[in-house]
Amino acid sequence: MELEKLLLKKLSKPIKDASREELYAATLALVKDLTDARPLTDGKKKLYYISAEFLVGKQLGKNLINLGIYDELNELFEKNGKSLAKVESYEQEPSLGNGGLGRLAACFLDSIATLDLNGDGIGLRYHYGLFKQTFKDHKQYEVPDAWLQEPNCLRKTDVTFDVQLGGKTYKSRMWNLDVVGYEKGRNTLRLFDLDTIDESIVTDGINFDKTDIEKNLTLFLYPDDSDRDGQLLRIYQQYFMVSNAAQLILAEQKRLGNDLKDLAQHVAIQINDTHPSLVIPELIRLLMLEGMTLKEAANIVSEVCAYTNHTILAEALEKWPMEYLMEVVPQLMPIIAGLDYAAVCAYHDDHNLNIIDQDHRVHMARMDMHYSHSINGVAALHTEILKNQELRPFFNIAPWKFNNKTNGITFRRWLMHCNPELAALITKLIGDDWKHNAMELERLMWFYNDEGVLNHLDRIKYNNKVKLAQFIKEKQGIEIDPNSIYCIQVKRMHEYKRQQMNALYVIWEYLRIKSGQLPPRPITVIFGGKAAPAYYMAQNVIHLILCLQELINNDEDVNKYLKVVMIENYNIAKAEVLIPACDISEQISLASKEASGTGNMKFMLNGAVTLGTNDGANVEIRDLVGMHNIFTFGASSDHVIHLYNTNGYHARDYYNNHESIRRCIDFITSDALLAIGDKEMLTSLQDNLMNKDWFMTLLDLDAYCSAKETAIYDYCDRAKWTRMMISNIARAGYFSSDRTIEEYNRDIWHL
Ligand SMILES: *Cc1c(COP(=O)(O)O)cnc(C)c1O
Repeated sequence: MELEKLLLKKLSKPIKDASREELYAATLALVKDLTDARPLTDGKKKLYYISAEFLVGKQLGKNLINLGIYDELNELFEKNGKSLAKVESYEQEPSLGNGGLGRLAACFLDSIATLDLNGDGIGLRYHYGLFKQTFKDHKQYEVPDAWLQEPNCLRKTDVTFDVQLGGKTYKSRMWNLDVVGYEKGRNTLRLFDLDTIDESIVTDGINFDKTDIEKNLTLFLYPDDSDRDGQLLRIYQQYFMVSNAAQLILAEQKRLGNDLKDLAQHVAIQINDTHPSLVIPELIRLLMLEGMTLKEAANIVSEVCAYTNHTILAEALEKWPMEYLMEVVPQLMPIIAGLDYAAVCAYHDDHNLNIIDQDHRVHMARMDMHYSHSINGVAALHTEILKNQELRPFFNIAPWKFNNKTNGITFRRWLMHCNPELAALITKLIGDDWKHNAMELERLMWFYNDEGVLNHLDRIKYNNKVKLAQFIKEKQGIEIDPNSIYCIQVKRMHEYKRQQMNALYVIWEYLRIKSGQLPPRPITVIFGGKAAPAYYMAQNVIHLILCLQELINNDEDVNKYLKVVMIENYNIAKAEVLIPACDISEQISLASKEASGTGNMKFMLNGAVTLGTNDGANVEIRDLVGMHNIFTFGASSDHVIHLYNTNGYHARDYYNNHESIRRCIDFITSDALLAIGDKEMLTSLQDNLMNKDWFMTLLDLDAYCSAKETAIYDYCDRAKWTRMMISNIARAGYFSSDRTIEEYNRDIWHL
């Protein structure tokens, strides 16, 4: 009743007469009031989690859950003939991230607040975030994602800082996004921006004048950097982010009356990937302005900063030409050069350790590793590869800095919000302690042989599959059968993630059905993901998938047994519909290349069974569920690394020597597909797979098709499959981001 009164005050009309928009605005205002009523977390030491991305997803539903009023409000709306889910869907999703790394940062903020730890996020307020993906003529097009419509979840502040960019002074502004923890805890995500950004300079898709910094600085996340101006803009963005961060941190310390010499006792900074790396020289610069020497400042900053590595792909380890840094941040170059000399030149003669290399490029990750006290990977296998291969020279000089923090996900969004039926069943079976201690999910194993429970689990999965079928019908006009097996691969499009291998499987299955070999049950293969605009191979893979969708779904001989769907504009909201409906979770990256993955954890938690390589956190999933509750296949990471080191992989040999592989590859430019698609794109994809195939698709293709066939036959044994489902859910507790954050705090932050 109390809640109803509070809402009506915001609404000033009966709930039943209010529009979706009015209900959204009123609920948003109510959430802000209830948030204000909760005290901000504080403490002697504070964490600043700096990240170029925070893929936070829609805020309303999550905040209602964390404030403990979701169910009550839901009932109130129902009583008045309204749907809370519909009101939630009115919110525009903030597209402030591009994939797993940004989503991880969002899950971490949720867990930091929930554990009542004193920690804020710092990032940028991109006006269009990442682009929005649309499909036309079986191709991806990119359009601006205008998420900042009023009212929204941000709060404008009057906190501003002066930032020097390219010799000019710009005035920043800080915006706040509330981070309320589950039942307790409250922190803030600080997003910086310029008041002068001009959205009207964007023309023709997502193109704009890259040199007009005053108007373009925070328009897009990851603006195209295939040319010089694009690369300069990235440096402008990165420095803008960290200069604001450094100034905010020091201002807060001064306000608290803390001596900057004791900074490491009061502040921890986590550098999420290399985008915020310039915070190191910037903080040192500011401390030197306070009277410290370079050496004193560098020692303090190293005690404060910790670095998380997210990838071993070379192109993702940023290195900027010194000349560019001279142009954008001339005030930092003498400091970076000094740091290079002090850490490296004076002690080592290994060029691989240099921050500034012989080609005058500045290596961000190397600066991070020299000037932070912790370097962590994001899954056990990934951290081992960092120590033994990619970052070995650094491991040799400072082994004590290296540690692993296996990623996690927040169960508030990825179970309680996205799958309320399953969450309710779990609570009915084992009580609700699992909401605070995820390891309690293990108790579900008590019901391993309980037919009633297993059937209930299966019914919930079926209901979620029906919902996804309705969603796809409504959004994309494609009909799928909830009784078919849903195989889902949704994630950013990248060759190392090998969506192309799944597409080749689709061809393989199609050709088998055409020849009369029918699967034991219909199969629906679902893809989703955006490709970077300048990443032609990824664009070509999307094209192939969309052509296969057209061909197969319209082929009356085949579409009873096989369908293909490519989800348009995959984002958090769509993930929340897809993941609870999944039967087979496709995690098929080339072993050694996926640092961790977090999609794999979300699927497992929602009762999907993983079909995956021994890569990233799949390895830990396998160890937790046991070999009979997962389908693994493919070359080991050791073998893959060996092949790279010896140039031992030749795609052409696989094409020549395997009839089944050859038929799939040849089909890419068959008459049937050329009648639908673009000859140049399909030919270029085929040529790459036959002659280059850098991520070794053909190496694992046969093993993948066999493993998938096994999974599909096992699915038909319902008693066996539902046991696999419950085993996966029961063992997912380890992947709660609450566990991950407890480890960061115990080993690195010491809040
Ligand atoms: C979890 C998530 C990802 C990361 O998926 P991976 O399979 O780990 O790459 C990417 N995008 C969205 C929208 C997500 O929710």
